[in-house]
Amino acid sequence: MYASRMSHLPPYLFARIDEMKAEQQRKGVDIIDLGVGDPDLPTPDHIVASLCKAAKNPENHHYPSYAGMPAYRSAVADWYRQRFGVKLDAGREVLALMGSKDGITHIGEAFVNPGDYVLAPSPGYPGYYTGTLFSEGKVHEMPLLHENNFLPVLDNIPKKVAKSAKLMFINYPNNPTAAIAPREFYREVADFAADNTIIVVSDNPYSEVAFDGYRAPSFLETKGAIEVGVEMHSLSKTYNMTGWRVGMAVGNADVIAGLGRVKTNVDSGVFNAVQLAAVTALRGPQDCVKEACTIYQERRDVLISGLQDLGFDVPSPKATFYVWLPVQDCMAFSAKLLNEAGIVATPGIGFGSGGEGYVRFALTRPVARINEALERMRRLDL
Ligand SMILES: *Cc1c(COP(=O)(O)O)cnc(C)c1O
Repeated sequence: MYASRMSHLPPYLFARIDEMKAEQQRKGVDIIDLGVGDPDLPTPDHIVASLCKAAKNPENHHYPSYAGMPAYRSAVADWYRQRFGVKLDAGREVLALMGSKDGITHIGEAFVNPGDYVLAPSPGYPGYYTGTLFSEGKVHEMPLLHENNFLPVLDNIPKKVAKSAKLMFINYPNNPTAAIAPREFYREVADFAADNTIIVVSDNPYSEVAFDGYRAPSFLETKGAIEVGVEMHSLSKTYNMTGWRVGMAVGNADVIAGLGRVKTNVDSGVFNAVQLAAVTALRGPQDCVKEACTIYQERRDVLISGLQDLGFDVPSPKATFYVWLPVQDCMAFSAKLLNEAGIVATPGIGFGSGGEGYVRFALTRPVARINEALERMRRLDL
């Protein structure tokens, strides 16, 4: 019944974990879910209020414009200028997305011919793989290894692959490894992309989730970046708006136009009221972003010091709300946590073969729950 590409879709590991979790819940186990990368904190009130107001205006009840409302695109351009010093033409260099997943999974259809290579980090966000599959490209995995600070080594990409690659996904601050990228890395990527005529897609949804004073850069701050690529950002993680489905692609006008043309044919844009609430988020007070970081930072400190007390060698991440823990066997480790302690952690293999040997904890539960999880882990023989 199903098309053959369906059999190439990665086994949806998260669905299997959900099943295992449901089984424990049926037994009455109090589950501590540190698996899913979805903020537990609510969307700030002023943003919700803005949606309510905009939803009541019948003018907003029609089909949105495909590329996004001018008010939204100029708010995005202003945010990029203020936050990163990156100047964008709101008309040609900004596109509204239904979350960055929308852009990630559809950009291949505009630029990848069957058999073309797409360079994607492993471990990496599953959308890089599925988007490539839908455009019938071939993924070339760029391993993210601890000894390379979880940055891909561009020199290790075979020349033939580099020459026939169309797209390269990069993602810093990184999910799942929580690694950050130095500016030199972005310069290398921009040069590599120019030399090999590759479009860079910088997936940057965690730029605002950072600790200890660290400020993540945008790839577009790099000289030459806008000639070779785009960046995707999203309101999902920055403003706790995962359910709202609103984000943006910004950068190279031709790339933005190609992605926009695909999207014109598959969706009809983001609800205007959601775009106007997103304008409120981007233009309004930013204390809520700082407050969320303070909360994640406290959780990070509790989890990291607890894990270190348990004997794990795990560094304290500077950004994202993840902890990437090295373990022997990721499936066995996460099954043990779930079945013997009621703790959900994501096995690294769910992010590609490069994730073996790690589990990912999401800091999306309160400190009290993280402490309870650590208490339960102390009772296990890990
Ligand atoms: C959460 C996430 C996304 C997708 O977020 P949207 O809600 O679709 O904006 C994309 N990439 C990475 C690495 C993520 O963690």
